Amino acid sequence: MRFFDAHCHFDFPRFDGVREQVLAQASEVGVKGLVIPAVRQADWQRVAGLSDPGKGVWYCLGIHPWFVAEHTAQDIDDLEKMLGSQPPGCVGVGECGLDGLRGELSAQLPWFSAQVAIAAKLNLALVVHSVKTHDQVAAVLRAEGGGRTLIHGFSGSYQQACKFIELGCYIGVGGVVTHGRAKKTRDVISRLPVDVLVLETDAPDMAPVGVAKGQNSPVHIPEIFAELAALRGENKEWLAEALMENAGRLYGLAPDELVAHPASL
Ligand SMILES: [Zn+2]
Repeated sequence: MRFFDAHCHFDFPRFDGVREQVLAQASEVGVKGLVIPAVRQADWQRVAGLSDPGKGVWYCLGIHPWFVAEHTAQDIDDLEKMLGSQPPGCVGVGECGLDGLRGELSAQLPWFSAQVAIAAKLNLALVVHSVKTHDQVAAVLRAEGGGRTLIHGFSGSYQQACKFIELGCYIGVGGVVTHGRAKKTRDVISRLPVDVLVLETDAPDMAPVGVAKGQNSPVHIPEIFAELAALRGENKEWLAEALMENAGRLYGLAPDELVAHPASL
């Protein structure tokens, strides 16, 4: 079986000095690629520099709701220009979104709307962070015409998930589903149509059960997958390949393109 980590902060310091090792370990357990989302302009060059499509390492550029205050309108112009130049390895806009538990929604909204509009205009994937803001996020997607969108690290109700699915969104499945206490999310994920599900770690955050806080890594994708397969009761080989197809459709690449090519390893 082969897997893909659709959302992994592989540029964060937790991976400094061990990136090659982690990539090799991930590959050994079947994780053949990942997407690095960017959270702030100051990180864009670093994120882009780590990308290596031959090794299955892709990236997105964006401004996360926690960091909007450090940006100017010029950054949105620059973002559109950089994305419009179609840099190799760049597959989307993000991580952007809204967070009801940190900062002011009114301050976050214009930044999110602008990034959704860029993704729609350039026909790029959109990677969304939504915490306690699902209705507001859905409204922005509807207004700006969001296309291929990942609601990353989804937790919410079945109805909220269905609303996102109606808007063409994919639902990110991460470490949360490995925790027995996350009853609601586990139940929702087990009931959704398979063709909207995408595996992700959000590493180094969102540690699965048994992994220390802040120590998550793409190596743990198979554990998340095993829990997902157990929850849904589908054939594992079939489910793994269905999830690869979904990640490919989200990021606009065939699964065979998405994964590392042996010659580059
Ligand atoms: Zn993230």
